[in-house]
Amino acid sequence: MTRADTLATVGEKVGFISLGCPKALVDSERILTQLRIEGYQITSHYEDAGVVIVNTCGFIDAAKEESLEAIGEAIKENGRVLVTGCMGRGDDADRIRAKHPKILGISGPAAYEEVLGSVREVLPQEHRPDPLVDLIPAQGVKLTPRHYAYLKISEGCNHRCRFCIIPSIRGDLVSRPIGEVMSEAEGLARAGVRELLVVSQDTSAYGVDLRYQTDFWHGRPLKSNLESLASALSELGIWIRLHYVYPYPHVDALIPMMAEGKLLPYIDMPLQHGSPSVLARMKRPAAAEKTLDRIAQWRDTCPELTIRSTFIVGYPGETEKEFQALLEFIEAAQLDRVGCFQYSAVEGAQANTLPNPVPEEVKEARWIQFMALQQTISARKLQQKVGSSQSILIDTVSDEGSLGRTRADAPEIDGIVHLPGVTEFQPGDLVEAEITSADDYDLWA
Ligand code: SF4
Repeated sequence: MTRADTLATVGEKVGFISLGCPKALVDSERILTQLRIEGYQITSHYEDAGVVIVNTCGFIDAAKEESLEAIGEAIKENGRVLVTGCMGRGDDADRIRAKHPKILGISGPAAYEEVLGSVREVLPQEHRPDPLVDLIPAQGVKLTPRHYAYLKISEGCNHRCRFCIIPSIRGDLVSRPIGEVMSEAEGLARAGVRELLVVSQDTSAYGVDLRYQTDFWHGRPLKSNLESLASALSELGIWIRLHYVYPYPHVDALIPMMAEGKLLPYIDMPLQHGSPSVLARMKRPAAAEKTLDRIAQWRDTCPELTIRSTFIVGYPGETEKEFQALLEFIEAAQLDRVGCFQYSAVEGAQANTLPNPVPEEVKEARWIQFMALQQTISARKLQQKVGSSQSILIDTVSDEGSLGRTRADAPEIDGIVHLPGVTEFQPGDLVEAEITSADDYDLWA
C-alpha cells in the first residue's frame, strides 16, 4: 500500500492518500497531475489541506478494512474528505457512506472527471494556473521514484474468475489506443524514467476490445496489440517489464524480443493453481498442462527468462490430490519468484457460493508446505546467479551503500541487490556488477 504525497507552495491545497495496487497508483497519478494542471497544490499535512482525497482499494477484505480506516483517519484529522477508487461503487460505496456519513463525495475507480468535479465544487480554485510559472513535470505527477514508472495500458477485464470481483468493480476490458500509450511512454523516458512497468488487469488481452485497430505514433501506423506495443516500447532504449501476462499462444512472439534484449526477460504471470480441475472451478483463462509446455518452449528461446507468479491454496473444494497436483506443477515449472495466498472469501465473489470450503487449518498447512517447496526452488535459482555479472538499476543510495535490482527483479515485489559501501552512484544509474552471494530472497554484489 502506498500513501502518497508531494509538497506544495501556492494555490488551494489538496491532501491525497493512495491505497492499493499499481493500477490504482496510476489512477492516483492521473488525478494528482490534473489537480496540478488546474493550479491545486498537493500537501502531505492534514492540517493544510482544504480537502483530502482517499483512493481506496477493494481487492480483498483486509484492503477494504484498511481503506475504511484511512477514510476514518482523514475525517478525524481534516473533516473534508472525498472518496474514490475500487470501493467507490455498489455495496462497498454504501458501506462507506453508512460508516462515514460525513464524506463529501464518492466515486468509482478511474473516475478522474468525477473526482476533479467534486474537488472544484468543495474547494473552488482562486489561483488560475499560469503555464509560464506553474510548471507541471512533463511526465505528470509520479508517485514512484523518478527512475521507474507504471504504464497502464488498459482498464477492466473480460474474464470472470470466480474468486475475483475486479470485473464488477472496473468493468470489461477497455484498452488505451496505442498512440496514446506510446506518447505517454516516450514522455516518461524523456523525463528520466529508466524502467517502465507495463500494467493492466490482463496485459495479454491488450487491444482485443479495439479489434487491434491501427493507430498512429509520430505518424507511423501501429496495430493496437501486445506484440506491436512491446516492439514500439523496446525502441525507447529503457527497461520494459511486463506484468499480468497470461500464457496465451500470441505471447510466444514476445520471447524472442526478450532473448534479443529488447524487453526485459521477465514475465509476471499470475497462474493461481496447477491443477486443471481447480483452474476450471476458478474459471481461469489458460490450462495448466499447456502452460508447462509453453514455459519450457520459452526457456528454450530465452534461457535467461525470469517468471514470477502467484498462487492460491485452499480454494473451495481443493482436495489433497489437487493440492499435490499444484506442488507437482511448481516443482516442474521451476518458477523464479512466487507469491502464495490462502484463499479468503471476498464479498461479492462468485466463489463464495461454492461447496466444500477448505478448513482454515488445512489452508495454513498447505500454504506452509507450498512455501517450503517454492523457497528451495527460488533460493536455488538465486544461488545459481552467484559469480555472474548482472546489470543493476540503482534504486537508493545512502552512506552505507546502494540498493538496486537486476533485470529479474520488479520493484516492491521481488528481491533486491545490496551493494555495501558503494556510494558513488545515483538512483536510476545502470551498473554492471558481479554477484558475490545470495540468501533466499536477495543478492549481494
Ligand atoms: S483475469 Fe480473472 S483474476 Fe484477473 S482481473 Fe480478470 S477476472 Fe480478475
